[in-house]
Amino acid sequence: MPTSLVTGGAGFLGSHLCERLLAEGNRVICVDNLDTGTLENIEHIRDPRFDFVQHDMTEHLDVPGPIDEVFHLASPASPIDYLRLPLHTLKVGSYGTHNALGLAKRHRSRFLLASTSEVYGDPQVHPQREDYWGHVNPIGPRGVYDEAKRYAEAMTMAYYRQQGVNTHIVRIFNTYGPRMRPHDGRAIPTFIRQARDNKPITVFGDGGQTRSFCYVTDLIEGFLRLIASRYHLPVNIGNPGEYTILQLAEAIIAATASRSEVVFEALPIDDPMVRRPDITRARELLDWGPTVELDEGLRLTLASWDEAPTAV
Ligand code: NAD
Ligand code: UDP
Repeated sequence: MPTSLVTGGAGFLGSHLCERLLAEGNRVICVDNLDTGTLENIEHIRDPRFDFVQHDMTEHLDVPGPIDEVFHLASPASPIDYLRLPLHTLKVGSYGTHNALGLAKRHRSRFLLASTSEVYGDPQVHPQREDYWGHVNPIGPRGVYDEAKRYAEAMTMAYYRQQGVNTHIVRIFNTYGPRMRPHDGRAIPTFIRQARDNKPITVFGDGGQTRSFCYVTDLIEGFLRLIASRYHLPVNIGNPGEYTILQLAEAIIAATASRSEVVFEALPIDDPMVRRPDITRARELLDWGPTVELDEGLRLTLASWDEAPTAV
């Protein structure tokens, strides 16, 4: 039975990945320090093939082998989390990635780094292609996240080129679904919480900035195809459907039949004005494309909130 190790496995994406890997027949070791993740995300997994290890990835980690693959997701991901944890974010992107790659090297495991569309910053190329190097402000408040991920990508390529580790890099574009925390500050859970409570929907700036939203199961399918591939350069995984944030707010108000009104608040510093993945590489190399569009993904996410905000 193959063994997969998932860092950040008690988080939003990590918990969905653990479930999918178990469904594929794997043994799963979930490593998390519970900084922004929670045991609630994994407590329903009652399976002898599943182990949870509470550990901070900025510290050396060893676990008994064999380990066939390491998915490195540990990192604060929401702007309010990485702005609250700036040094930790830099450390987990650097020491944490070094530790995860060292583990993969010792066990001769396949390795996948969860990188981000933030490596493109406020892009000058739109839609974003993987060969575009980005336009990032290293000293702005978002720099702690963007530069940590850029450093993590550089380290991953060094382990591939110099140490011979079988590495992969996925650049994740905004992904949503069940188990996002209602107060994690990201647009979709925030708008859903506000709409359900008939409270004002807080749109930052004039709401004209754009994002592309990928449903979580599509993203996880992309992870599995990429780590099984022989491709080592970064691959965008995201849904190219592009919406303004005002359109998103209106879609959530409609989907919840809410009485909420939109209020406009200050745009955060260095908030990218456009974001949309060019997924040609994922389509050609992995035969991957999104299957769940925004209205269906919002319906599935809202259905889970009717049970409990973090349930599926
Ligand atoms: P999340 O906050 O729900 O999950 C991150 C997990 O990492 C949490 O469980 C947290 O406790 C854990 N963690 C943080 N620091 C750690 C450390 N030092 N040691 C061990 N565990 C640690 O966020 P998410 O949305 O699930 O994001 C997961 C990964 O995907 C992150 O690397 C993030 O940068 C990346 N990503 C996510 C998105 C998205 O839209 N969700 C977009 C781009 C990139
Ligand atoms: N946003 C907003 N209101 C909120 C939260 C976010 O208008 O309450 C905006 C934010 O400024 C950004 C977009 O929604 O332009 C997506 O933000 P999110 O935090 O979800 O992800 P980001 O793409 O910034 O990492």
